Amino acid sequence: MAVCLICSCSTDLVILGDKGANGINRAAEKRGGALRAYKGQHVHSECRRNSTQINKYLNELNENAAAFYPNDTPVLRSAHTFSFRT
Ligand SMILES: [Zn+2]
Repeated sequence: MAVCLICSCSTDLVILGDKGANGINRAAEKRGGALRAYKGQHVHSECRRNSTQINKYLNELNENAAAFYPNDTPVLRSAHTFSFRT
């Protein structure tokens, strides 16, 4: 019996296409996971969506981090702005 690649449950499965498999694989790579999906495997559409949302999440995280900590600015810059002369 076919089971979901991600949660191993067997109800309401959909069959992965190339695009779906690629999305899961990219997400797994970003997480450092060993999950590999191939066209023709079974998943839940919801599991696939949850799995691939890490892509969006990580992209946003990277953008936010870059905006908050520009490469040429020390992270603790605010610790040195206090003036003892006042
Ligand atoms: Zn599932």
